[in-house]
Amino acid sequence: MTLIKQLVISRGDLENKLRNLLGKPIFLIEMDGFALPCGCSGMTINTRGLQVDDLEIFEEHILKYLDDIAQSLEIDSSFIFARLIPGTSEIASLNLRILCNNCYMDFARGTGKQPRPDIYILRFNRKQ
Ligand SMILES: [Zn+2]
Repeated sequence: MTLIKQLVISRGDLENKLRNLLGKPIFLIEMDGFALPCGCSGMTINTRGLQVDDLEIFEEHILKYLDDIAQSLEIDSSFIFARLIPGTSEIASLNLRILCNNCYMDFARGTGKQPRPDIYILRFNRKQ
């Protein structure tokens, strides 16, 4: 299967799972693969209707769903975070990011779930 076809399936599948899990309308308005000049790469899922509370309460389930997507797209899932709309508890996107060495060092310096007000970390596996 091509990457794009896999994205189409994963987007619809995750949207249904989140709606069933949370019992409210969640919209995954766009799902993208990305590659940055620094060397980071990964996947961004832009969301509407998802709140920080939802992540806190259902973190285990949501991580499992994102792990399934990572597996189907054959991408590493050691760093997963949500981006918040600044000043709100609204989630703007869910992100799986394969960090370059510089960005890894930046994130490794931070502590806790919210090293920055616009970032909520679901998983950050430190390198051994
Ligand atoms: Zn980077």
